[in-house]
Amino acid sequence: MKPKYHIWTIGCQMNAADSRYLAAALEDRGFEPVESPDQAGVIVLNTCVVRQKAEDKAHARLGILRRLKEKKPDTVIALMGCLVGVNPSRDLQRRFPFVDVFLPPSQPGALLDYLRTRTSRGNPPPATASLLPPSIRGHTVIAQVPVIFGCSLACSFCVIPYRRGPERSRPRREIVAEIESLAANGIREVILLGQIIDRYGLDLAEKDDLASLLKAVAAVEGIRRVRFLTSHPNWISDSLLETVAGEERICPHFEIALQSGSDPVLERMRRGYTADEFRRLVARIRRFIPSAAIHTDIIVGFPGESEEDFLATHRIIEELRFDKVHVAAYSPRPGTLAALRYPDDVPSDEKARRLAALERVQNEIQVRKNETLIGSRVSVLVEGRRNGKCFGRTPQDRLTFFTDDGSLRPGDEVSIEITSAGAHSLRGRPATAGQS
Ligand code: SF4
Repeated sequence: MKPKYHIWTIGCQMNAADSRYLAAALEDRGFEPVESPDQAGVIVLNTCVVRQKAEDKAHARLGILRRLKEKKPDTVIALMGCLVGVNPSRDLQRRFPFVDVFLPPSQPGALLDYLRTRTSRGNPPPATASLLPPSIRGHTVIAQVPVIFGCSLACSFCVIPYRRGPERSRPRREIVAEIESLAANGIREVILLGQIIDRYGLDLAEKDDLASLLKAVAAVEGIRRVRFLTSHPNWISDSLLETVAGEERICPHFEIALQSGSDPVLERMRRGYTADEFRRLVARIRRFIPSAAIHTDIIVGFPGESEEDFLATHRIIEELRFDKVHVAAYSPRPGTLAALRYPDDVPSDEKARRLAALERVQNEIQVRKNETLIGSRVSVLVEGRRNGKCFGRTPQDRLTFFTDDGSLRPGDEVSIEITSAGAHSLRGRPATAGQS
């Protein structure tokens, strides 16, 4: 019988990508995934500490794992990701003695070494090993590919530079080779990941840049779509915008965190731009690419955020009409400048009120924006079926549901006529039969 593994993933797409690499490595060594940790001989908890809520979730799961280890001492428990950080500390071992292996973000090697010493299962995979776990091969068409690890900025609220280390770009040839392998395994869309993806290549001995990387990835046979995230307002170059505008396979979809519409708050956050500079950036993107979708992140309740500061954020959201806004309530992260210097002085019910107000206004904007698409045709890359309907996304990342004659398969690209729209999805029907 094959040995079993289970991976619990909390947090961002970077963690999802790390878990996918680890799953592929385990499956290439003969392990099989199971739905429930109770059935697994190896359990990995891949953690996030970017907000208190995510950290609480990780601690709750660690409690479950502690009890499980007491019942089944042979189970191998691995703790991975931002809770571990780049240099696992002795303190972690003291706090979680039931954990067998600690894995820094994006570095699964210690678990594979550990398994190799315990069994023959950790042996290196054959040279032709796939980057997709067999358990999902053929069932997925989208893969996330980290291209730059870590972050060298120091936004005052953010723990990521301390947990993921300084930025390190992967060489372009390594990324392209990986994507060729993914395409050969049926992947049709890749999402290139980095904390500040626009800084790709700046740290390499042979300088490179995101625009050149995107062109190289879009040229890989079999790849239909390329996305990239997350962008920082200060590093989006005209050459990047020209590249996105000129290459159909590169999706006109930007994820750019604004964080606040108030200059004093942005300054305390150490973001390095003003609200007006952000406005000019949005105008520049829309000038180069009128169809671009722009998503953003906002933090409400940052220390010292007054009602006036909050209203400035509310106004900029109404004004810039983003395609999506992720709003989070501030929670102090130990060790960050904001946690050390500024008291967390916005009460939690006030943070909740501000969060709900922004979500309400953005919801209305999304409904109105999506309704303008009714009657138009959009291109959708089919991802699968849900509740009897086909679904996929447009190049602008709009989730779209539609009925078909059952012939469409994941990876097909189809033109859909939009018949109705809500805040979070579109609905429609194929505009022409059999198009792919
Ligand atoms: S840019 Fe700022 S918010 Fe983003 S990962 Fe780096 S430090 Fe954190």
